[in-house]
Amino acid sequence: MWIGVSDVHKKHPLIKKNDKVIVQTGKEKGKIGTVLKVNTEKGQGIVEKINIVKRHTRPGRQTSQGGIVEKESPIRLSNLMLVCSKCAEPTRIGRRLVEDGSKVRVCKKCGELID
Ligand SMILES: [Zn+2]
Repeated sequence: MWIGVSDVHKKHPLIKKNDKVIVQTGKEKGKIGTVLKVNTEKGQGIVEKINIVKRHTRPGRQTSQGGIVEKESPIRLSNLMLVCSKCAEPTRIGRRLVEDGSKVRVCKKCGELID
């Protein structure tokens, strides 16, 4: 049973590792990916196949020729929106306080638990 509902401050989108997110702004807008890493201090995260940067590598001992390595670069968490696994819609995250005092994340669209 829920005993309270509160909105999440915009600075803390509460995105976590393994969440499915959609990019809201920038050149990757509309793309959906899975969160691989979150850095809450920087407010950034790494999302699979999003914000790919190409890095040139030099020829090394193992590889006979240099090449281009594609790697995800961090994206601001505030540019991401969670995609609810239940209703499959991009949604804002709500927080609910449960009886034992802990907070859980909920989908603001369908009300389902995200955690
Ligand atoms: Zn939902």
